[in-house]
Amino acid sequence: MVKHISHIGIAVKDLDEGIAFYQKLGLELEAIEEVPSQMVKVAFFPVGDTRIELLAPTSEDSPIAKFIEKKGEGIQHLAFAVDDLPQALQESEAEGIRLIDKEPRPGAHGADIAFLHPKSTGGVLIELCKEKH
Ligand code: ZN
Repeated sequence: MVKHISHIGIAVKDLDEGIAFYQKLGLELEAIEEVPSQMVKVAFFPVGDTRIELLAPTSEDSPIAKFIEKKGEGIQHLAFAVDDLPQALQESEAEGIRLIDKEPRPGAHGADIAFLHPKSTGGVLIELCKEKH
C-alpha cells in the first residue's frame, strides 16, 4: 500500500533557522504554509519524491511544542504516500495496528493524512498521506 516516502517531518523551534540550515545543504524552499488546526508553520523542501517538512509551533499548545519540550528538536514523524487512504487505514487496522486517526483529515500541502499510533509501530510516529500532487 505504501508507494514512497512522502515526507519526513522535523520539529524545529525556529522556522527561519531551520530553513537557513537546509538551504545551506543546497535544498530549495518550495513553500511555507500555516496549518492552524495543528498550530504549526510548515516549510517544505523537495528531495526527489520526498520532502523535508520543517514544523515550527505557533502556540505552546501545539503538538509540536509538546514534542520539542519532551524530546527536543529533531525528526518527529515519517510519512508514507498511499493511493487510497481510507483503504490503507482499513488494512492497517485489519493488521492489528492501532490508529490515531480512524478517518483521514486535512494536512499541510492539500494532502489528506492519518497517523498510526507509535505504540504499534516500534516508537515511530507514522503518517499515511494521500498527496494532492
Ligand atoms: Zn506530515
